[in-house]
Amino acid sequence: MTLPARDRPRGVASRLAPFGTTIFAEMSALAVATGSVNLGQGFPEDPGPALLRSAASAAIEEGDNQYPPGIGVAALLEAVAAHQLAEHGLAYDPAREILVTAGATEAIASAVLGLCEPGDEVVMLEPSYDSYAAVVAMAGAVRVPVRLAYDEAAGRWVLPPGALEAAVTERTRLVLVNSPHNPTGKVLDGDERAEVAGVCCRHDLVCVTDEVYEHLVFDGRRHVPLATLPGMRDRTVTISSAGKSFSVTGWKVGWACAPADLLAGVRSAKQFLTYVTPAPLQRAVAVGLAVTHDLVDPLRDELRANRDLLAKGLAGVGLAVRDAEGTYFLTVDLSPVTGEDGATFCRALPARCGVVAVPCSVFYGDPDGGRSLVRFAFCKRRATIEEAVDRLGRWRP
Ligand code: PMP
Ligand code: GLN
Repeated sequence: MTLPARDRPRGVASRLAPFGTTIFAEMSALAVATGSVNLGQGFPEDPGPALLRSAASAAIEEGDNQYPPGIGVAALLEAVAAHQLAEHGLAYDPAREILVTAGATEAIASAVLGLCEPGDEVVMLEPSYDSYAAVVAMAGAVRVPVRLAYDEAAGRWVLPPGALEAAVTERTRLVLVNSPHNPTGKVLDGDERAEVAGVCCRHDLVCVTDEVYEHLVFDGRRHVPLATLPGMRDRTVTISSAGKSFSVTGWKVGWACAPADLLAGVRSAKQFLTYVTPAPLQRAVAVGLAVTHDLVDPLRDELRANRDLLAKGLAGVGLAVRDAEGTYFLTVDLSPVTGEDGATFCRALPARCGVVAVPCSVFYGDPDGGRSLVRFAFCKRRATIEEAVDRLGRWRP
């Protein structure tokens, strides 16, 4: 029972209190305070592509500094439509089926707030990116986790067959999927994508799919958007982020593509959150999207090489490394070297060897979830990864 307003203590509302301060803020502050190598928060260290930086500066200098249209700047809406068509054969009408948002975070929040009633259930993969649970709580909806499992024999994270189906009830409103997946680095394979699509189609559900790492998949894998599967285009909200594709995480330019009726829900929430997304940055992202592969292909190769170096270093100190198929991240299981839980380990690691990582428990709803797992980000300069590997190697648990 919530107390009457005048009897409640000042401060955070009860529906947000359980989420505290995000782990990324906590761990980045710890990295600065201890002079540690920050493999916690997933942001690249380079300044971002010169092409985008000069396009943004030019847009500012040319005076593109007032509110743009609520749905987004025409050049970016058209560039997103062209990208979806050229990459995946998906046709979206830029006037009615694409919405520019303040990063993927706002697109996810707007989808949940704009499409759910209080009490609706949102089925999501677990572990899940930290904003999902918080925004479901803000909407007064109910989070229903479906756990990914690690298949030791196959050496990969898997969506256990039937698990998604079992989570659906008559109150399910959305299925919120993320592939390539943060924090595991997993990419849904063909059978798993078919399973997601099958569940959504059989139960007539809306799918919200967070595909921010769409261009960051390794070892010859290909990202296949869920919206391309039979029966899915007209029930799917697909979310992307320039932050990830073009290494400009601080710009917070994202977008959602969806059929007009679903996009109307997303737009209705977005207009009262930020109203619009900065105009000059939208113009610059449109310039980047026209040459997506010139920008992302070298980035993907660098990331893969960083992943391999980091994985080798972590395995060298005895940690059980779980291979990343995509994204900025890989996870390790601590149990071969320590009985400590991930949160204790991560809080102690800066003092032990000057490296910061993130405990995976924060991506689970239940306090014991992901207890022995830790996430390391490899979207850093090569020299940073080398330094981290060196420090970890000198420590040796
Ligand atoms: N979804 C996932 C899976 C992420 O890892 C992130 C953060 N990097 C986001 C969404 C948020 O993206 P943005 O910074 O564009 O809001
Ligand atoms: N997505 C980034 C990560 O997972 C961080 C985003 C944030 O700090 N909210 O590390």
